[in-house]
Amino acid sequence: MAKIAFIGLGNMGGPMAANLVKGQHQVVAFDLSADAVKGAVEKGAKQAASAAEAVKGAEVVVTMLPAGKHVRGVYENDVLPNIGKGTLLIDCSTIDVDSARHVAALAAKAGFDMVDAPVSGGVGGATAGTLTFMVGGPDSSFAKARPILEKMGKNIVHTGASGAGQAVKICNNMMLAISMLGVAEAFMLGKRLGLDFQKLFDVTSTSSGQSWALTTYCPVPGPVPTSPANRDYAPGFTAAMMLKDLMLAQQAANAAGASTPLGAEAAQLFNMFVNSGNGAKDFSGIIKMLDGQ
Ligand code: NAD
Repeated sequence: MAKIAFIGLGNMGGPMAANLVKGQHQVVAFDLSADAVKGAVEKGAKQAASAAEAVKGAEVVVTMLPAGKHVRGVYENDVLPNIGKGTLLIDCSTIDVDSARHVAALAAKAGFDMVDAPVSGGVGGATAGTLTFMVGGPDSSFAKARPILEKMGKNIVHTGASGAGQAVKICNNMMLAISMLGVAEAFMLGKRLGLDFQKLFDVTSTSSGQSWALTTYCPVPGPVPTSPANRDYAPGFTAAMMLKDLMLAQQAANAAGASTPLGAEAAQLFNMFVNSGNGAKDFSGIIKMLDGQ
């Protein structure tokens, strides 16, 4: 049993911290949102008054924050100045590769093991403890992080050096955005052609059109009862977060000289959706924009 500081208890961090508690770890929780901390305490975590307080005496620090600027801020101001020798650092947020490498370099310079370990699997996977972790960092840091990550996920893959977890993650999410747009377009075409959504789902989910966006996250109500479409697109994974990841993918593509025309188009469409006031909706709600609503 390890003493784990968990910072960032939102849609994903909340259930992930709860699984560490279930895994017999002692979790000390902090979030800027008092409600988020309350939720974690109800699941068995101990409350800290600040990030700095949470990490004092921790053997492991796990962060699950929105973006690179939050991760840089928390590591530079709260985590690195307050942790003791031997503390293992695991950042599970999805952030830009540069910030991930910057923070990992600061940690290495101060003598700490650190991995970037972004996740795939959504809130459902976070709750069930079946997330996929893509992990960047040295072999020895990966070996230390693995048993902790196993309490929150099922597939733990070492994808390369520091930043390689983030690089795989943005490739994955660019694919997800493009496939969700594909599913949404097909359902809107089906609607105009007078098809029954359930019948369209029954065929495509067992045919070559099959994808995670369709079978786990179907963007129309009905066929997949747990998908956000059944609760008026409450997230889940917000459109604002998806836009963030698409912009990260475009930045990385530009820097690497990769041609990603569908990724660029997806970024444009999600930008329009978010700018028309839908940033807090689940990303699958983009089907409404394609429907002309
Ligand atoms: P969220 O907005 O629900 O949670 C983020 C939490 O961080 C919030 O509770 C916020 O109050 C807290 N926070 C922000 N700044 C802080 C600070 N300085 N100190 C302490 N707490 C702070 O977001 P989420 O959906 O849980 O996503 C978190 C990360 O996981 C993001 O990087 C996202 O891209 C990634 N992700 C999300 C999903 C998903 O389905 N929601 C899936 C995979 C990856």
